[in-house]
Amino acid sequence: MRFTFEYIEAEYRALLEMGYQFVTCQDAFDQFRATGAVNDGAPTVINRVDVDLSLVRAGRLTAIYNALGIKATFFIRLHAKEYNPFDFENFRHLRAIQEAGHEIGYHSEIVDQAAIWDEDAATALRRDLAVMEAMLGTPVRGAASHGGLTGLNNLDFWADHKAAEFGLSYEAYQDGVMEASRYVSDSEWVRWKSYDKGARLDGDHRSPSQHAREDQIPLIYLLTHPDTYYDRHIYEN
Ligand SMILES: [Zn+2]
Repeated sequence: MRFTFEYIEAEYRALLEMGYQFVTCQDAFDQFRATGAVNDGAPTVINRVDVDLSLVRAGRLTAIYNALGIKATFFIRLHAKEYNPFDFENFRHLRAIQEAGHEIGYHSEIVDQAAIWDEDAATALRRDLAVMEAMLGTPVRGAASHGGLTGLNNLDFWADHKAAEFGLSYEAYQDGVMEASRYVSDSEWVRWKSYDKGARLDGDHRSPSQHAREDQIPLIYLLTHPDTYYDRHIYEN
């Protein structure tokens, strides 16, 4: 059971020691679209956090980022059974994330919403963004599609839509950033998975710092889920 908060902090530290800079998705997409690179090709980690199940654990990651002096983008769900972003404790964490200068984005489930509520996905998206902006008091610039349990793909919506149609700056899988990166994700809970320039690296379960050290990757697109980490075991509160 190695996916402890201590372990992920050591991963971030190792990347920092190798000279990597950490950027938010907004910064990465802005720079990539303007110049075709992020940080002029200097070693960079795009630090994306999808909050699937727990804003309390997102608070734990935030404390690590603040101590290390790095920034991240946290994508928040509005329709999770597992957490209510307006819950007293969760909203306190959300505000702390915002006040520490991290980016907060929208974790999209609009294809699921459209199917379950029998409505138009674009209508659901506009309503969610308005709710989230009212909640945070600032515009939401980024969306990232959540992979849920319906068997539908929330990313499909973006095949024929652009972020700008909804006042957004970016959708996290669009615009070629994924194709320019080594994407490393903890979405399999107990092991890492990775893609190089959009193609799955089958059987490659190396950690982000191993990718960096062994392959000298200039741009790592790192996706973590706060829910994956614990102090002693995965079932703790
Ligand atoms: Zn998700």
